[in-house]
Parts: sequence; structure tokens; C-alpha cells
Amino acid sequence: MKVTIYGSGYVGLVTGACLAEVGNEVLCVDIDPGKIERLQRGEIPIYEPGLDRMVTENSKAGRLRFTLDPAEGVAHGLFQFIAVGTPPDEDGSADLQHVLAVAGAIGEQLQEYRIVINKSTVPVGTADRVRERIEQALAERAAQIEFDVVSNPEFLKEGAAISDFMRPDRIVVGTDNPRTAELLRALYAPFNRNHDRLLAMDIRSAELTKYAANAILATKISFMNELSNLAERLGADIEQVRVGIGSDPRIGYQFIYPGAGYGGSCFPKDVKALERTARDCGYQAELLTAVENVNERQKAIPLRKLEQHFGELKGRTIALWGLAFKPNTDDMREASSRVLMEALWAAGARVRAYDPVAMEECNRIYGKRGDLILCESAMEAVQGADALVVITEWKEFRSPDFFEIRETLRQPVIVDGRNIYDPAQMAALGYTYYSIGRGPRQ
Ligand code: NAD
Repeated sequence: MKVTIYGSGYVGLVTGACLAEVGNEVLCVDIDPGKIERLQRGEIPIYEPGLDRMVTENSKAGRLRFTLDPAEGVAHGLFQFIAVGTPPDEDGSADLQHVLAVAGAIGEQLQEYRIVINKSTVPVGTADRVRERIEQALAERAAQIEFDVVSNPEFLKEGAAISDFMRPDRIVVGTDNPRTAELLRALYAPFNRNHDRLLAMDIRSAELTKYAANAILATKISFMNELSNLAERLGADIEQVRVGIGSDPRIGYQFIYPGAGYGGSCFPKDVKALERTARDCGYQAELLTAVENVNERQKAIPLRKLEQHFGELKGRTIALWGLAFKPNTDDMREASSRVLMEALWAAGARVRAYDPVAMEECNRIYGKRGDLILCESAMEAVQGADALVVITEWKEFRSPDFFEIRETLRQPVIVDGRNIYDPAQMAALGYTYYSIGRGPRQ
């Protein structure tokens, strides 16, 4: 089948590579010339495990191509996927300019029936706006061509995106046209063999399902973070509490890890956008506001612990392990590391940072500055530092040489923003160790 995908980011590129992998002819369209040139040269602009091989092999086989030209995109695929960014606007709502720009381009170029599939995370009602924009562009050139608009939100996780796409928990298809649902069922059939995971529903419910999924996951994290702050004040250990509640199958162990807040390109913006959607229809979503506020506060905790230990941070050097918002990605959007680094710089401290894959991204965001030293290795980052902060739980940080770190740091101080170390072991090794929700009673 022929597929066009607008947007070659984390979602678009993974979708394109996976659909090509099972034999479809995929054309990816992006507006970023640098990105398209790199992809045409066989370079992958993002880090996502397994993506490199898939893009290279499918490009070589001629099943995956890249272009800047939307006209070529519209002519190519019966399936027209929109997978462009929907960043937060100033008021928290999702900025739909990229989605609507694609809709406009499709309307301008449409020559025959197409299925326009919205994969970007968009507020309820966006499918109507996409339809209107296409109709408007068709009317401007007095054309009458049939098309359908479908909502097909994406649930992949960065860092495990390929396996999530290849073996999805569910494929949500929102459409009011049963024939379109069947065409999408055929497109997704290679990923839907074990048992039927395709959930056909109305468009608005499909759009809301994506926000509901992200909002409940963010809620679980903020709930645990709230409890961790309470545990600290009560002299309880949140990690023991976590296991105690996770053992109840109604609660489960997944997604109840306390830490230095959630980041990334989805949870923060989607919680804000849903809250905004609620406000727009006259409803105050108080739980969502609290989820967001708890997260903001949580992101500041590593800094608070450093201040608690050192007092003034001016002139201090802090080693930072982890820049990406979570392991196995180079994505630093809304990462807790950024909140910490920016606060440290504002306080007059220097940062020696290391991340296994996000160094280039960090350099792209912050450029060269005297108070940021990007280090080649985790051990290099601790050299000459007053304390070490772990902010991303990469595997390689889980069992480091604590003796060497202790000898290298100016002071044996570790702030563990993800609770990956054992407090008793840290104490036995002579560290002053701060973690989340496991401290002595305050
Ligand atoms: P991204 O920023 O990585 O990629 C978006 C791409 O779209 C960029 O390459 C940009 O140049 C391109 N683009 C912008 N305007 C365009 C246009 N008019 N035509 C063609 N390309 C255009 O974004 P992402 O992380 O892939 O997210 C895309 C959407 O998917 C968002 O709505 C996001 O909320 C949603 N989503 C993301 C994830 C995730 O884990 N990243 C998971 C599920 C859903």
C-alpha cells in the first residue's frame, strides 16, 4: 500500500520505518531541509533504538523515501498521515498551526480520494478543523474531491518506539466511515495478527483517548511524588510504600516510581492542553491542575537538596548524570535536567554534564557557555565536582564504581533524583546521600 507521512520526528519516522518494514511504499514529507537531506543521505536525525537499521534497509530497498515537496506527498499515498508537532501555545493549548498547514497543503494538492489520518496528539474537535481546512482549500480552486479524516492517535514510547509500534497494545481508529475503518484495518493487519487490537470508535472519543492515557500516567507519577514528599516528612521510605501498594493488582507496579518529575514532549504539554480544553468548555479540571503543579514543584527538588547541603551554590561545580528526559532517548524537551541546570546557572554554579546519547542535543539547545562542560564519560563529569546529581536513570549509571567516584568528587555528596541507589549502601560507603522520599524525617 502507498503511505505518505507528514513530519519525520519521533512519531513520523518510526511510523514510516515500521510501515515500510512490512512492505508498504512510504514517502515521508518534512519542512526541515536539513532533516530531509540527512535522511536522504542515510543519517538518522534522532536517537531511537533499532530505528537506524530499519531506515537504512528500507531506504535501500526503495520502500522508504524522503521529500520536502507536499505535492509529491499528496500524489503518493492513499493514506496521508499527519505526524507533525503540536507544541504548547502560550496559554497551554495545543498549537495546531503545523497540523492545519498540512491540511491546507493536502487541500491545495488533492486530485483523488485520500484518507487523512491524524496521528499527532490533538484536542477534541481537531478532525473537524482539519476537514474544514481541506474543504476551504478545495473550495478556493472550485474542486470537489472526496476525502475522509480519521483520528489515529499514537501511543508509542520514545526509547521503545519500534517495539511499541510493531506490537501495539491497541490501535485506536476514530472514524465515522466504516469503509475507512476497514482500510485502516488492512494497513495495520501486519501489526494486529496475534489478536484483534484495533479499536474503532467515534472521532472525538479517539482524540480524547490519547489525552486520557497521558493524563492518567502523569497523574500516577505526580501522585507518587506527592506521597514521596509526605514520606520524607514522616520518616517513611517511599520505595517500601511503592512495593507495598504495587503488589495490589488493582494498582500494579507500573508507573508508580517517585522521582524528580516527568518531562518529555508529551506529558507536560498534554496535561496542560487537556486542562485548557476543559477550561474552554467551562469545566475546571482541578485534578489536572494539581498534577501539573506537583510536577513543577518536583522538578525543583534536586536543587533544593543541593541548597540544603551547601547553602549558597555560587562558585560550586555540580556533576550531572543524565540530560535526556528519560533513558534510551536523546529527547530533552521539558527534561528535569534543564530545570536543574538553568537554576544552577542562575545561582552562579557550573555544571559538568554527561549523557550517553543526548550530548549533541544539549549542545544544540544551550550552545557553548562557560558554566556548562559537556564531558565524554560519567567519570569525567565527576572530576572536580562538589557533588553528583543523577537525573536520568540510564542503565550505565546504576552500578558505577562508587569508590572511584568518592575519591574523585571534592565532597562525597550524591543527589539521586531517581532513587536508583541504596541508601544503606551509600551510607556505608561514606556518602552523604539524598534521594526522593527516603530521607530521614524532616
Ligand atoms: P517532532 O517534533 O519530533 O517531529 C515533528 C516533525 O514535523 C518535525 O520534523 C517538523 O519539522 C515536522 N513538520 C512541522 N510542520 C510540518 C509540515 N507542515 N509538513 C511536514 N512536516 C512538518 O514531534 P514528535 O515527537 O514526533 O511528535 C509528533 C506528534 O505526535 C505530536 O503531536 C506529539 O504529541 C505526538 N506524539 C508524540 C510521541 C512521542 O513520544 N514523541 C508519542 C505519541 C504521540
